[in-house]
Amino acid sequence: MIQDNYGRGISYLRLSITDRCNLNCFYCRPGKGTRFIPHKNILTYEDMLYLLHSVSGLKVQKVRLTGGEPFARRDILYFLHRLKHELPELDLRLTTNATLIAGKIRTLKDIGIKGLNISLDTLDRDKYRRITGHDSLNSVLTSIERCLEEGIRVKINVVALKGVNDDELDDFIQLAVDRPVDVRFIEFMPIGEKTLWKKDYYWPSAELLQAAEKIIALNPVHILDKNHGPARMFRPGNGLGRLGVISPLSEHFCTTCNRLRITANGGLRTCLFSDREYRLLPLIRSRRISREKLLLVLKRAGQRKPMGHELYTGNEPKSLCRRVMSSIGG
Ligand code: SAM
Repeated sequence: MIQDNYGRGISYLRLSITDRCNLNCFYCRPGKGTRFIPHKNILTYEDMLYLLHSVSGLKVQKVRLTGGEPFARRDILYFLHRLKHELPELDLRLTTNATLIAGKIRTLKDIGIKGLNISLDTLDRDKYRRITGHDSLNSVLTSIERCLEEGIRVKINVVALKGVNDDELDDFIQLAVDRPVDVRFIEFMPIGEKTLWKKDYYWPSAELLQAAEKIIALNPVHILDKNHGPARMFRPGNGLGRLGVISPLSEHFCTTCNRLRITANGGLRTCLFSDREYRLLPLIRSRRISREKLLLVLKRAGQRKPMGHELYTGNEPKSLCRRVMSSIGG
């Protein structure tokens, strides 16, 4: 097992399978002039399988595929199929904007994908277009319903943005009441060299929960699953679904962080906010380097995982890292 110097065990890997995204969310897009990773440096599916076989030997049980947009990568279904076949014990999850999954949902179910995290910052069609640059809200909502029909669990991740989607709190609550989905608001983080983060956008979880409680009773849900992430969850009234908050700024969870991230070109990041990356690509690709060497680097890097960052002290924070989420793997 990978264990860091603070006693935290690493059991969760977020693997970015592409740095490209079909949407252009205003707070996440790479700055002008940013170049995408050249194709030859993107981990191939074979590279990723080799890597995932290796980390599963280190007791990393949970893997989330992300991006960029994972479904923008060609032949993703083939990859998922192989992954499920070769590593059936892996707790495999995906994060997606759900704009490209229509027509793939039955296959996802057949492959054995049990749940999707779907990013959706608004339920208003015009606003969706303004945030993402695309008119895809209806398609996303239809795909959410299709997932539910197929028995695929849906968690909807909303970046909490004051002045952008705080006026939609009732609509999101209503969604969690009417449909068996988790709606989770995540605080906007200052990420990326040209981050748009400013205090005006910052909608702290405590404030959001206070506003939600004025709309409906929130009953705390205690989750015993050891793989459960840092979300605090509530049942709104007698709703079918749940409402939650993830608070990396106001209540950071660095002391219990159990994750590693690997970028689409094999950069291992032991902390989202640290630009330090360990280059795994040569270790994965070179036939002259043994798997043991790769495992050793993963373990050593894991050991040095930083304790965390003081994200928000009340002053306007500068960006904490150079890359935006879509390029790190959000
Ligand atoms: N394309 C996929 C998707 O949309 O879910 C996966 C990648 S996307 C970068 C992952 C998540 O990161 C999205 O929910 C996005 O809203 C979120 N995100 C991007 N920048 C963020 C920021 N600065 N603070 C908080 N969340 C952010």
